[in-house]
Amino acid sequence: MKPQTPKTEFWTGILHGSHNSLPAKITATRDDTRPEPYAWRCTCGESRSFPTNDDVFDTAWQHTHPRPLDGLRQRAARQRRTRHTR
Ligand SMILES: [Zn+2]
Repeated sequence: MKPQTPKTEFWTGILHGSHNSLPAKITATRDDTRPEPYAWRCTCGESRSFPTNDDVFDTAWQHTHPRPLDGLRQRAARQRRTRHTR
């Protein structure tokens, strides 16, 4: 079977990373016949398209290298109330 990649689509790069504790690979492509020529697709199924090449790498990097959440600790156990009913 042939790959369903159209003739007009070219590979512009591959980015390796991880998210959700799983390895991820992003394939960036370019297709001038599209309104947004630049696009990437992740192995998790996520895909995006952009008008410029700069946005492609930026968003792809963020997708495969997510930052740790800072405000996660403060949400621990703060539900402590002394209630006196009766
Ligand atoms: Zn992904």
